[in-house]
Amino acid sequence: MPDLNQQITALNDQIRSAVNASGRDPNAVRLIAASKQRSAEDIRGALQAGVLDYGENYVQEAIEKITELKDSAAIWHFIGPIQSNKTRDIAESFDWVHSVDRLRIAQRLNDQRPADLPKLKVLVQVNIGNEDSKSGCRPEASQVLCEQILQLPRLQLQGLMCIPPATDDIAEQAQAFVTMAQLRQSIISTGIAEKNMTELSMGMSGDFPAAIQAGATMIRIGTAIFGPRQR
Ligand SMILES: *Cc1c(COP(=O)(O)O)cnc(C)c1O
Repeated sequence: MPDLNQQITALNDQIRSAVNASGRDPNAVRLIAASKQRSAEDIRGALQAGVLDYGENYVQEAIEKITELKDSAAIWHFIGPIQSNKTRDIAESFDWVHSVDRLRIAQRLNDQRPADLPKLKVLVQVNIGNEDSKSGCRPEASQVLCEQILQLPRLQLQGLMCIPPATDDIAEQAQAFVTMAQLRQSIISTGIAEKNMTELSMGMSGDFPAAIQAGATMIRIGTAIFGPRQR
């Protein structure tokens, strides 16, 4: 386990230079620590280093950590593929869901969001590389899904998310992220309010500078904070 303070300081420096290089507002990019397979103790360490947002992929594992850290200031983001039998736990325990990719899942999250909690903030996951192996709706289907989500009273649509094809080629990385930014613009131009499209969740340890350059507002970083994962 690397020194979390040191890792997070170094990462924040890299984020700051990417933001500066793109001429964007330094507060426009929010760091989400992708904390799958990390312990509640690891998350406590990251909280102490000033990271407030945590992204989790596996419901059972996440609920245990959320329970253990319920007195902390952590904000919880669900970022993994969603099975319908897990929507209740997600609706009851998370603040954000980045991976909504079909109406049925949106409807279940809406119906199961407890009345005493604020609306569940959601992003539509887009399969921007049209990869068979990836979740996410097709880019052409994203607009309609956004409109459907706007009809669901317990959800608050906030924008789009993607996991582009993994590549070390900076130009290819940029292309996927720029396409996402254009998709967001086109969804706004066809009538979805900008306040429902403020977020672009994109960029991981290997490609976040390109994502920031293209307009990412949330980057999801695991390895560059916590070190390599098992498996
Ligand atoms: C694991 C994960 C990340 C973080 O990946 P790293 O390469 O470790 O930064 C980001 N987004 C999602 C959806 C993930 O599952």
